[in-house]
Amino acid sequence: MEHVAIYPGSFDPVTNGHLDIIERGLAIFDKVIVTILINPNKQALFTLEERLEMLHKSMENFKNVEVDTFSGLLVDYAQQKKAHAILRGLRAVSDFEYEFQMALMNRRLRREIQSVFLMTGLRWIFTSSSIIKEAARFGGDISGMVPDCVKTKLEEKFLCKLG
Ligand code: ADP
Repeated sequence: MEHVAIYPGSFDPVTNGHLDIIERGLAIFDKVIVTILINPNKQALFTLEERLEMLHKSMENFKNVEVDTFSGLLVDYAQQKKAHAILRGLRAVSDFEYEFQMALMNRRLRREIQSVFLMTGLRWIFTSSSIIKEAARFGGDISGMVPDCVKTKLEEKFLCKLG
């Protein structure tokens, strides 16, 4: 049986912290499906198309990864994709409460799907899409925290916002 995991998130934009989780997820699972969650209540900086493009570009050299989008119930999507696990990353205790709640709800909805958590690599403990956007907005150097294509996109985005 092929072991497939879904790695869901906003990826607004993808960071090196996300890539680390995907890479390590691939050491456990045969395939990881990175899925952008379409959440109309969440205001994103990048459009869905832009986020997809950045994910594709960032993972050009990754094998056994699929990039997708979804809206609706995550556990239904997982079943549709024949995935048995939901992969998530944990940075700090502050991530824990929300993740715990979500994992318990997902387990209640579909017991056969397991939530798997990977602790962040020490290097990425303070890396989040939102903090990177804040820094980039005011011209802070974000090299090494995001893939190069994301850095360029962020610079373009804020340049046209300021201009
Ligand atoms: P969401 O809006 O679902 O939190 P994100 O794109 O912010 O979406 O994150 C997707 C997943 O990646 C979450 O499980 C989050 O905890 C994890 N994650 C984000 N940044 C890091 C990081 N630096 N290290 C480890 N995990 C991370």
